[in-house]
Amino acid sequence: MKFKQQINGLHAYQPGKTTDEVKKMFNLEKVTKLASNENPYGASPKVKEYFANANIDFAIYPDGYASNLRAAVANHLNVSEKQLLFGNGSDENILIVSRAILRPGLNTIMADLTFGQYKHNAVVEGAEVREIPLTKNGEHDLNNMLAAIDENTAIIWVCNPNNPTGTLIPSDKLKQFIEKVPNDVLIVLDEAYTEYITDSNYKDSLGLLENHPNVLIMRTFSKAYGLASFRIGYAIGSESVIAQLEPTREPFNNTVISQQVALLGLEDQAFINECKEKNNAGKAQYVTYCNERNLHYFPSQTNFILMEVKADSDAVFQGLMKRGFIVRSGNALGKQGYLRITIGTEQQNSELLEKLDEVLKEEGVL
Ligand SMILES: *Cc1c(COP(=O)(O)O)cnc(C)c1O
Repeated sequence: MKFKQQINGLHAYQPGKTTDEVKKMFNLEKVTKLASNENPYGASPKVKEYFANANIDFAIYPDGYASNLRAAVANHLNVSEKQLLFGNGSDENILIVSRAILRPGLNTIMADLTFGQYKHNAVVEGAEVREIPLTKNGEHDLNNMLAAIDENTAIIWVCNPNNPTGTLIPSDKLKQFIEKVPNDVLIVLDEAYTEYITDSNYKDSLGLLENHPNVLIMRTFSKAYGLASFRIGYAIGSESVIAQLEPTREPFNNTVISQQVALLGLEDQAFINECKEKNNAGKAQYVTYCNERNLHYFPSQTNFILMEVKADSDAVFQGLMKRGFIVRSGNALGKQGYLRITIGTEQQNSELLEKLDEVLKEEGVL
């Protein structure tokens, strides 16, 4: 059959091991997964209440325009409803944008290391991928990203804060960068972790939309809202860009349930603030650990931390898994000698760090 040639070189997404699989493999009673930056506190209690009383008409298609959720998000962000695009997670919004814009002959610019789906979708669409190494501090190298632009550049991906380094671009630097990007290049700001940002210098990027209709911001209910299983994310852009993207979206890409639970999650901002505070305290546990053991880490504005282990990442990853903790090996992320750990509850963090001491002793690091 006539598959796109570029698909031959691609691998399907490899999900990590589930907690059930690891329980079986190592005969463990308790396994804690701190690998995918999900919220360790779950979702707002209002979502659980909803499920106890949900009354859904199974046979009826969902609202394809997500009208109620759209109105609520528009109100929450103080933008117009026409500035929003809802996707089956930000993953789908990345796909929608790529599908609408990228094609052979065009190129797209992104960091190396960053979130893998930008490159993946670009390859599917046959566009040239230009990856610009991060600076030593794990930040986007905005000057080199600018230098990589030519007349065939279509999209620049800026993951802010960046996954997997957790680093945030200072707001003034980001603004200067955006001012230098040509108007016909779409700048995607992927802000999957925006709710976790504590840096007091951070200015909400929504303000950039006013003067820069070529900016598209992506946010999600998967991380701080604790609703990853429902697959719902949204993009915020200028009305003209959103109107161009809408036709490439599937007509019913968000389920009835995902729309309703996202609405409940959005209404419970007290829960988000509580998670943000707890996350910040949890982050301090890892920072203290690294400082005390002289392990490098990247300053994180997210709910995960990329930290050095001074040993083979896979060996440390395996050692933790045997002891009931699933994290992400740096090898899987392109950062050897490091682990990416999702910040869990206080107790999960201290248990994990205790086990990490054991593993690092085994590896001769401590
Ligand atoms: C988790 C993540 C996503 C995907 O979010 P979904 O809404 O669950 O698809 C997108 N971008 C970044 C940077 C992420 O870390």
